[in-house]
Amino acid sequence: MDKIRMPNPIAELDGDEMTRILWRQIKDILLLPFVELNTEYYDLSLPHRDETDDEVTLEAAKAIRRLKVGVKCATITPNTGRMTEYNLKRMYKSPNATLRAYLDGTVFRTPILAPGIKPVIPRWEAPITVARHAYGDIYKAVEMCVEEKGKAELVFTSEGGKEQRETIFDFDSPGVIQGMHNRRDSIESFARACFEYALSVKQDLWFSAKDTISKTYDEEFKRVFESVFASDYKARFEEAGIVYFYTLIDDAVARAVRSKGGFVWAMKNYDGDVMSDMISAAFGSLALMSSVLVSPDGCFEYEASHGTVTRHYYRYLKGEKTSTNPIATLWAWTGALRKRGELDGLSDLAGFADSVERAALRTIADGVMTGDMAALCENGAAGVDSETFLKEIAKRVSA
Ligand code: NAP
Ligand code: MG
Repeated sequence: MDKIRMPNPIAELDGDEMTRILWRQIKDILLLPFVELNTEYYDLSLPHRDETDDEVTLEAAKAIRRLKVGVKCATITPNTGRMTEYNLKRMYKSPNATLRAYLDGTVFRTPILAPGIKPVIPRWEAPITVARHAYGDIYKAVEMCVEEKGKAELVFTSEGGKEQRETIFDFDSPGVIQGMHNRRDSIESFARACFEYALSVKQDLWFSAKDTISKTYDEEFKRVFESVFASDYKARFEEAGIVYFYTLIDDAVARAVRSKGGFVWAMKNYDGDVMSDMISAAFGSLALMSSVLVSPDGCFEYEASHGTVTRHYYRYLKGEKTSTNPIATLWAWTGALRKRGELDGLSDLAGFADSVERAALRTIADGVMTGDMAALCENGAAGVDSETFLKEIAKRVSA
């Protein structure tokens, strides 16, 4: 059989621990036998980030911008424990934070509905996609503790020297302060990315924030969404038969639980971080969730939303075969290959991505799956190890 051609590369960002092992297995078992895989390889494993003073992460971000498509393995975000474990020169930032700060944009996370695995909320018939703004707010905040009596102020000094000033609080006792920001162009591109995404999947778009309390900050998000919608998307939404609405975050949470699913839910950075874990857990698990970062200049970075599965990795190091779920990491690869295919007009490459996903779902339907899925599955099949599962999927790709 001829392998599928792939003239233009994608950026490949390798990672750490158990997901690094899965990465290799996915490539060997499911990709290389079928595709002339063309990637620019960046090793974002913690030892290599340390060797390069984290330059490799920025190089990878630049490659995603240049090549338009990237695929990323889960990576360790160093903390004090990892400093000693890996004998690091310094405590590097999370690679995801570096990539998001460089590329800007919106992260779309959609549960992968696997046969036999029912959502915790029985009314949910279709996946809920969380659209998380990936720039600013508390992720780019400055914070300080104050130990004495005194006045905290918010001061903006314009380039021309004009000042805007607000008292935050008059402290009589120790406390904490935080200053955060967002940029109107980032909010606007977040809104556009959400409207475009909703149109592409023909699903309603909800946007939720807390403008009743945050009468300037969240109000700005709400206003930008409304104005972009009114000027550029209202007619297109009507034509597509879908709606956009804004509602308070607490109302949205209650409505989401009572809904049938099947919509796109746009949220600010922190809300999206929290709610995507709730949505993924309620639909199955983080290992059954696809995730893509869409930047305003049309770059796509695909990843899994779970971590490096450290506990399984330590068992793997002892020689055990682990039953770690490769689905989210596999979906990162199929997402990236499909997008490369779409951008380059390669229908066989895009078609290959579809057939790998179909094969994976058929494998699960046939009762062959990793332990975490078996535990959630109604027919309670026994779990197999990751390698066996991937080989079973490969059999069904060729069949
Ligand atoms: P984690 O790697 O997501 O794993 C937490 C637990 O969830 C696992 O021990 C496992 O439970 C279960 N799990 C997660 N993914 C699974 C999979 N694919 N298959 C089966 N079970 C899975 O989170 P963590 O342990 O908090 O973090 C580990 C490392 O990952 C940290 O160093 C963190 O910095 C990093 N991290 C990276 C990213 C990223 O790069 N996107 C995201 C989050 C965390 P059982 O042990 O009960 O089986
Ligand atoms: Mg999170």
